[in-house]
Amino acid sequence: MIDFAGQDFDVEEIFGSAGAISKGYPAYEDRPQQKQMASAVYNALHNHRHLAVEAGTGVGKSFAYLIPALEIAKQHECRILISTYTITLQEQLINKDLPFLSRLLDNNFTAVLAKGRNNFVCRRRLEFATRRGQGLFDSDMATLIRLGNWAKQTEDGSLSDIGFSPSPQIWQSVMSEHGNCKGRNCPHFNKCFYWRNRRRLESAQIIVANHALLFSDLVLRQQNVSILPEYRYVIIDEAHNIEHVAEDHFGLNISDGRVSFILNGLYNQKTKKGLLARAEYAEAVELVKSCQNAQADFFKAVGRWFEADRGNGSTRPGFVSDCISEHIKKLRLGLAKLAGGIEDADEKFELLRFAEMLGGLEADIKSFLSHDDKDCVHWVESEKNKRKTITLQSAPLNPAANIKKCLFEEFESVILTSATLCTGEGKGGQEFNYFAERNGLDDFDKLKLGSPFDYQKQVVMYIEPDLPEPNAAAFAEAAAEKIRKYIKQTSGSAFVLFTSYQMLQQFAEMLGDWFSENSIELLVQGAGADRAELLRRFKEDTGSVLFGTDSFWQGVDVPGAALSNVIITKLPFAVPTHPLIAGRIEHIKTKGQNPFFSYQLPAAIIKFKQGFGRLIRSKTDTGIVVVLDSRIASKGYGREFISAIEKCRVEMAD
Ligand code: SF4
Repeated sequence: MIDFAGQDFDVEEIFGSAGAISKGYPAYEDRPQQKQMASAVYNALHNHRHLAVEAGTGVGKSFAYLIPALEIAKQHECRILISTYTITLQEQLINKDLPFLSRLLDNNFTAVLAKGRNNFVCRRRLEFATRRGQGLFDSDMATLIRLGNWAKQTEDGSLSDIGFSPSPQIWQSVMSEHGNCKGRNCPHFNKCFYWRNRRRLESAQIIVANHALLFSDLVLRQQNVSILPEYRYVIIDEAHNIEHVAEDHFGLNISDGRVSFILNGLYNQKTKKGLLARAEYAEAVELVKSCQNAQADFFKAVGRWFEADRGNGSTRPGFVSDCISEHIKKLRLGLAKLAGGIEDADEKFELLRFAEMLGGLEADIKSFLSHDDKDCVHWVESEKNKRKTITLQSAPLNPAANIKKCLFEEFESVILTSATLCTGEGKGGQEFNYFAERNGLDDFDKLKLGSPFDYQKQVVMYIEPDLPEPNAAAFAEAAAEKIRKYIKQTSGSAFVLFTSYQMLQQFAEMLGDWFSENSIELLVQGAGADRAELLRRFKEDTGSVLFGTDSFWQGVDVPGAALSNVIITKLPFAVPTHPLIAGRIEHIKTKGQNPFFSYQLPAAIIKFKQGFGRLIRSKTDTGIVVVLDSRIASKGYGREFISAIEKCRVEMAD
């Protein structure tokens, strides 16, 4: 046991070859990078500094921030929030790393995994839904009865404990919600799952959460509301993702589905079910119907505009006329009036909840149509599915100012870490410039630590300099030939990473027969099985090959022989014509900067590093990385991709 109370933080005593960790974990290896990181994290927390640490694979990042965090939480008697992007990492921290440290350190701490409020069932709403029963839902009552039985037995009361999948409509009617909770006045308060979890969070020194929950909390804190109890410091792992998570929290998303979900919850004309499906609510039902008609007109108009638009879907203020928000307002006011005259407190709560959702929808539609947030890009997306789902979306040109305001200006010290924060070798910390600029970090300490693995021995990168460029017509055939060659070289065991689903499908069609003829299992993202299932099968069948797009470039951990070959088909530049990217490019130009070098290239380098990083997950892993995009050799900027990754053998293929 080790106790640092009143002493300076001595990394050797914990991380050294004869330190505390090595005593508790015989396979432990002393890594200078881990010690450097732990010292830097401790100093930053202690001295109230923000810190960005890029730590290569194998540094042992999690212990390097957990141990200083536990020490600071103890010294300052405060709570620290640790946020990660993936559930895999949250589970590793809460089920493995923190219990290990609790046994090792003389530090009687509690760590709790925070879940969003909507993950918990609300006993009061479940009781109400069961009471109202058949008239409320399109779905059958069996699920509701099953939920009721589950709620009697579950300890946790959250979605992850259910073991079956209630429809979104049913779950949204029984989940715990801010603004639809009676708190201490609720008869279920003492046994309430959400509040029980909240009390556990309040007694914890370490809260583990995901980035989405962190940002929901940060945004609400700006309005003096919070989801999580107070915390003094924030540690963000997988920090390369915070820009994208923040984007979602500072933009708008108005889909046909979102509107239908609210209106059908009130009254579904087809099934004649919903909260208002009662004779005494006939007047309000008429208001719902006129809203539904207005919804159809509005989205038809948006669809017509989208089809006629010769651009990329970017909108101008008033690009269609607002034929819907007045109807939503009337319905909202109608529901509020109705709620005012109702005795049943639960029914009143439900009506007010719908009124609140309609208020949010009305405000979002008005804001979108007027483009009242000038720092956002506004655009329309239409999915080419059967229903041609239409979505009105907006996102900040640069979320840096928003992140700075709600995160860096609010907390004394924020630690940000990932294996991919830097965009090149740089000098004097300049390699952090892109990350800092996109995320609103002004005054911060920085540390870049390479991997302790021997990449020179473990990896060979092959570049195909003579292939046509990816946009050339001849690329697909030539690249398919190379994929066959390199898959044969490693007898499968490969990830083939694409930059779009369309490209992935094209190659899956071209190569499907070849894989069958060679008895190699080909796993294709988007062809039925979900991501977790694909990964499970890939790990099980060590000779299989996985074709993946976006989500397989990062956060996937396949150590050992199952993965010995990563083929990068195209340098991962974002599509420049996408409205958000195009808007950002224009915005950067107006500032007199070069958007390619200040935005598109660094963003692609970060993603390239993520893809490259899939190969080596332990010091015994070996394999090849193949780059089929010849621009890495022919263009001047190609060098920047190579200099940004761990130093390894790079060979130009003949
Ligand atoms: S306290 Fe709130 S969340 Fe809990 S059961 Fe009651 S109303 Fe639902």
